[in-house]
Amino acid sequence: MPNIPLVNVKVQFAQIQTEAEKQVLEILRAGAYILGQHNRAFETELAEYVGAKYTVPVKSGTDALLVALRAAGIQAGDEVITTPFTFIATAEAVRYLGATPVFVDIEPESYCIDVSQIEKKITPKTKAILPVHLFGHSVDVEAIETIAQEHNLLVIGDACQSIGTEYKGRPIGGLFTAECYSFYPTKNLGGCGEGGAVTTNDPEIADKVRILRAHGMRETYKHETIGYNMRLDEIQCCILRLKLQKLAAWTKRRQEIAKIYDAAFQDVAGLKTPPVKNYSNHIYHQYVLLADKREAVQKYLQANGVGTAVHYPLPLNLQAAFADLHLPAGSFPVAESVAKKIFSIPVYPELTDAEIAYVIEKVREGAQL
Ligand SMILES: *Cc1c(COP(=O)(O)O)cnc(C)c1O
Repeated sequence: MPNIPLVNVKVQFAQIQTEAEKQVLEILRAGAYILGQHNRAFETELAEYVGAKYTVPVKSGTDALLVALRAAGIQAGDEVITTPFTFIATAEAVRYLGATPVFVDIEPESYCIDVSQIEKKITPKTKAILPVHLFGHSVDVEAIETIAQEHNLLVIGDACQSIGTEYKGRPIGGLFTAECYSFYPTKNLGGCGEGGAVTTNDPEIADKVRILRAHGMRETYKHETIGYNMRLDEIQCCILRLKLQKLAAWTKRRQEIAKIYDAAFQDVAGLKTPPVKNYSNHIYHQYVLLADKREAVQKYLQANGVGTAVHYPLPLNLQAAFADLHLPAGSFPVAESVAKKIFSIPVYPELTDAEIAYVIEKVREGAQL
């Protein structure tokens, strides 16, 4: 029986292994481990890839969110509008600053924030919107910008799953006040450890993030503010640079696989393929299906060697960590209903044609049980 995990970081590493081992060894021997040549080169290369003027690598996507929100001036008592259907880090970052996440339901056509419901959640305390480009699909950038400008709000994007995502043909990295990326090993661009970055076209935001990342320090031992230790090390920057060279081809392959899946599943009763709105491309960080009998399909796939997972089983309003917001079941009907049916299947670019065919066969069989 084949074994096809949901993600496979080992086959990805194999593609850069020779060069990575050589270069990492050089770093180890040269002794410049923090903020060296790989960091500088990665900043430039990443900025170009995501379409932003400035890039500041940090220790993780969570750190990127925290430091971008802080650079944008978010502080205790502020409200930040975001989605309940995301990884917890999105709303955690808001909490780290003593601000309050204010959730707005998602739309079924993209699983991203329902822009038409944002305005009714704006109060005098609202300072920013934090939309999430979920699974690799862009949010409606222009519609969100319009609301933000009308109400004098900043927009910080969570692009942790969306490196290479485009809105109306433009890469999203420079479209909002800032975007936050993650290089967690299983992300589309994953390091061999933790990593993240803030990207922006705003020189002031870039400067603030850069200072916050290193103890509020611009000149050695002169501290302008209380900052953090969030520098991304040279080994990670080196690995990420090598993978970045392959990312466009990997993304293309993900999109090809998604197309094959879409065609294979569209006629299956009780199964819904991932929606894509016409303003967005989709880079398929996850290929998500909705199944009426999700648990049975997942069980069948597991029994047949195909890895799956649920992103995400519980919207944030129903998490114990946010119990104090008092947002009981029923508060976000779309997010809650999607969370009950959604599951992800393997879509990593190294899947062979035979593996794709096998996944299709098993998903179709499982959905028809
Ligand atoms: C992965 C992820 C994060 C956090 O990134 P880390 O690098 O793991 O800290 C934040 N938001 C979303 C949507 C993510 O998928």
